[in-house]
Amino acid sequence: MGDHLQVHLKNEKFIPMKNAQKIEKVPLVGQSLEKIILNVQEMGFPKFRGKQIFQWLYQHRVNDFSDMKNVPNAIREKCGESFNIHPLELKLHTQSNQEPTEKFLFTLKRGENIESVLMKDRKRNTICISTQVGCAVDCDFCATAKMGFQKNLTVGEIVDQFIQVQNLATIPITNIVFMGMGEPFLNYKNVISAADLLNHPEGTQMGARRITISTAGVVSKIKQFAEEKHKYKLAISLNASNESVRKEIMPITKTHGLNALMEAADIYYQSSGRFPTFEYVLMEGINDSLRDAHDLTRLIGRQPCKLNVIPYNEIGGYYKRPSDDKIKSFLSQLKNVPFQVTVRWSRGTDIKAGCGQLAASSDS
Ligand code: SAH
Repeated sequence: MGDHLQVHLKNEKFIPMKNAQKIEKVPLVGQSLEKIILNVQEMGFPKFRGKQIFQWLYQHRVNDFSDMKNVPNAIREKCGESFNIHPLELKLHTQSNQEPTEKFLFTLKRGENIESVLMKDRKRNTICISTQVGCAVDCDFCATAKMGFQKNLTVGEIVDQFIQVQNLATIPITNIVFMGMGEPFLNYKNVISAADLLNHPEGTQMGARRITISTAGVVSKIKQFAEEKHKYKLAISLNASNESVRKEIMPITKTHGLNALMEAADIYYQSSGRFPTFEYVLMEGINDSLRDAHDLTRLIGRQPCKLNVIPYNEIGGYYKRPSDDKIKSFLSQLKNVPFQVTVRWSRGTDIKAGCGQLAASSDS
């Protein structure tokens, strides 16, 4: 029976199941140190070889088992029989003509696409990574929402974005933000494991304070994040100065109300001592009035926090970016507020790499 069974692969070729099983290798990127040690021991090799392989994968970011110089041939070959290295395949690499910003389109094993963005600056080089294919949160103004939800990324698919982009980049990446496609806190377990791997002292060694996770406001997970005392920074997409506007533009507000969200943000501050950052996407006629600036100050000014204002990146729909004058006057209302205000002028909008523009299509 086996020989007659067929498997449909993404390249449209039909191959017999027996052979298909043989080539179905498991990617190592995404596996923890403990898991890699276990794999190596199961193959009959000593524990310390597992640690060496872990370092080759995450510190040296090798693309081939043959590059693992201090690992004996026999182990490399045995690994190569059951495992490969990367869960992602790079499909497209685009460079902005406006800024030093690059976008990377990756394909998953079953053919779905995701995107990552690298933003280079004099002081910091930040990678923005995706956590899901599409998104279920359905914010009305966001391009990713238009894709619907397709799947949660695995730990490997999240971490491999960093590994592969760092290998292609000519500069060291200094910061990681979980602000690409998807809602990180609806893929909580994998996102935290991915952050832990990126922060691992034997691995990529990205400092915890250089890793930021952004959520649309999944209240229970913000509380869990606080209780578990993770050291990563937290950003919360607020985007409105009151409950009724937030409900209109972010349907998640219907189940995760604004009061509960503010309370969860405070719980995070109380347990971590770190200020949550509220993100506020500024949209013309929606949340950019002087009244909004006033209400926003009243809403968040009661608790320790920071505010990041993001002038809207248009995606060809209903929502518009306010004029520069309107943005300026909104910001001038926030001059004497009791919290720090920063502005994120999104970069790479010419290649649809700005906040909220990621939709994993290969036409940009
Ligand atoms: N789901 C997470 C992370 C992804 S979105 C979250 O909501 O936080 C990252 C940020 O981009 C969020 O603050 C979101 O509100 C913002 N955003 C979405 N669409 C945008 C757009 N078109 N222009 C500017 N910012 C946008």
